[in-house]
Amino acid sequence: ADRRRAGSVRGPGRTSDGHPVKLLLNIGSAADLAPRDPAPSAEGAEGVDAEGVGLFRTEFLFLDRREEPSREEQVAAYAAVLRAAPGGHVVVRTLDAGTDKPLPFLGLAEETNPALGVRGLRVSRVRPEVLDTQLDAIAEAARETGTEPWVMAPMVTTVAEAADFAGRARARGIAHVGAMVEVPAAALRAGRLLEELDFLSIGTNDLSQYTFASDRQHGELADLLDPWQAALLQLIADCAAAGRAAGKPVGVCGEAAADPLLATVLVGLGVSSLSMSAPGISPVRESLAAHSLARCRDNARIALAADDPGQARKAIVPDR
Ligand code: PEP
Ligand code: MG
Repeated sequence: ADRRRAGSVRGPGRTSDGHPVKLLLNIGSAADLAPRDPAPSAEGAEGVDAEGVGLFRTEFLFLDRREEPSREEQVAAYAAVLRAAPGGHVVVRTLDAGTDKPLPFLGLAEETNPALGVRGLRVSRVRPEVLDTQLDAIAEAARETGTEPWVMAPMVTTVAEAADFAGRARARGIAHVGAMVEVPAAALRAGRLLEELDFLSIGTNDLSQYTFASDRQHGELADLLDPWQAALLQLIADCAAAGRAAGKPVGVCGEAAADPLLATVLVGLGVSSLSMSAPGISPVRESLAAHSLARCRDNARIALAADDPGQARKAIVPDR
């Protein structure tokens, strides 16, 4: 009965009837995994009860640097995360930079439309050695810590890009190679991508931006960027179906994963993990624990059929 009390549901993520859904953390550095507050406060004492790291954003090491961080410095930073991660599961995302982020050492040309320019994996067209050094460092950190990190690239757009990335990563002994799905072109080819890759992770922040042609920071366009938009959910459904057909994991690591009711929709669409920043984990775990998989699938059908996000939210009554 006490399962209803806030924070009372613990352990791995699952629906009320036991369907497992991995609940993972989005982090920016090892500091995000350190116990935040030694005082015996609600979350502080036991730490966040996540099953691993679903998105390790590696940008922090590179931002505001005049020179590329050395391989050794990168190895130390990645090893710190691999050592500290709960359950030992870490998905490392390679550098997501571009001309909208200040990385002078990359020497990228100025662009009039940086969101549509040389960012994410595309930087490796101009500076392939930066990605190669990063992959070397990740592989070295894995050996040092005796762990097997999953490694994925941001902004993958075509199957050819995915195959190229996978080749480079596998050549270094990285066993689990994936891509973020942030561009509609990638979502539309999810099945083919999964022939080249071991997993997909849907970044709903950018996938919304590119699907709805709306700058993700644009306050005036918040309704278009609402993750309850059916067109976004349809792309997620298609990726999840491709994952099920291939028997490979497809998760969500954008902000959408932290909305407790939308999490039931995402599970109903068939995703296998939800990754979010720490405060989202407990509410999402409790929401899933209150909904059966059948109920999640009902919610997914309702949300996919709705003409606008408000209608979808109104039509879905949470089980508590
Ligand atoms: C995303 O785009 O949804 C994502 C998780 O990546 P970032 O927010 O770092 O762009
Ligand atoms: Mg992104």
